[in-house]
Amino acid sequence: FDTRTVMLNSGYALPLNGLGTYSLHGEECVSSVRAAIDAGARLFDTASAYGNEEEVGQAVRAAIDEGVVTREELFVTTKIYPGSEMADPELAIQACIDRLNIGYVDLMLLHHPDRNDVLAYQAMERFVDAGAIRSVGLSNWYVEELTDFLPRVETPPALVQNEIHPYYQENDVIPFIQERGIVVQGWYPLGGRGHTAELFGDPVIAEVAAAHGVSPAQAILRWNLQKGVVVIPGSSDPDHIRENAELYHFSLTDEEMGRIDALDRGEKHDWY
Ligand code: NAD
Repeated sequence: FDTRTVMLNSGYALPLNGLGTYSLHGEECVSSVRAAIDAGARLFDTASAYGNEEEVGQAVRAAIDEGVVTREELFVTTKIYPGSEMADPELAIQACIDRLNIGYVDLMLLHHPDRNDVLAYQAMERFVDAGAIRSVGLSNWYVEELTDFLPRVETPPALVQNEIHPYYQENDVIPFIQERGIVVQGWYPLGGRGHTAELFGDPVIAEVAAAHGVSPAQAILRWNLQKGVVVIPGSSDPDHIRENAELYHFSLTDEEMGRIDALDRGEKHDWY
C-alpha cells in the first residue's frame, strides 16, 4: 500500500490520506483505527470534542506494540475546542496529550475561531517548543479569518482543515491557503454522513468512477487529492476503509476534474 506524503512548513511529512474518526466511538473506534492501519492508512484525525482520543490512542499503541507500524510512521491530529478549552488552553492541550497517550502529538488544531484563539495558538506553540506537539494549525478558518489571524501569530499554521467536497469546494479559500505554503485538508470529503447518497449517485461522479473501475468514494477522494487537498474520510466499515486507502492506482483527467469542479453548489453541510 501507499503512504504518500506532503511536506508541511514545520518540516514534518503528512500522509495524504487517512481516517476521520468523528463518528467513531468505543470499541468500534479502536477496531476502525486498526483496520485503517492494516489497510495502509497512516493519518488519523480526532478532536477533544469527538470524545474518542483515548480509543484512537489505544489502537495506535496496540499497532506499535505488535510491530505493525512505528510511532514515526503514524500521524495523529487532534483539536481543542472554542469556549472553555481555549480559555484555559494549557490545560486543554495537556488533556488531549494525556488522553491520546502516544508520546508526542503530530498536529494540534484550533477547532474553530474563538475570541481566545491567538492565546490558545500561542499555548500550542509553547508545547511545540517543549517537544510535545510537532505542528500546529487551524480548522474552519476562511479568507477573512485567516487575513486577520495570520499576522498575529509567529509560527505559520502547517495546515488548515475545512469542509471541502464536490458540492462545497471553497475555490476561493484553497488557493489563498496553498499560496501561503499551508497544506489544505478537507473535512466531509465525501459530503458528510447523511449526505453521501446524493453525491455518490450524482451522474458525473458515477460516470467518472465507472470510467476508472473505482467506487464513487474513490473518485471523489482522488479529485480532492488532485486539487492538493488531503483527505480524512470517516468509516467503520473495513471494506470502505480499505477502499478509501486505495487512491493511487488511477488518476482523473483534466476533463474529469473539470466536470467535478462544475458540481460546486456552495452548499455547506455542517460544522463540528
Ligand atoms: P465523510 O464525508 O468522510 O463521510 C462519511 C460517510 O461516508 C459515512 O457515512 C461513511 O459510512 C461513508 N463512507 C465512507 N467511505 C465510504 C465508501 N468507501 N463507500 C461508501 N460509503 C463510505 O464524513 P465524516 O466522517 O463526518 O468526516 C470526515 C472526517 O472529517 C471526520 O471523521 C472528522 O475527522 C473530520 N471532520 C472535521 C470537522 C471540523 O470541524 N474540523 C468537521 C467534520 C468532520
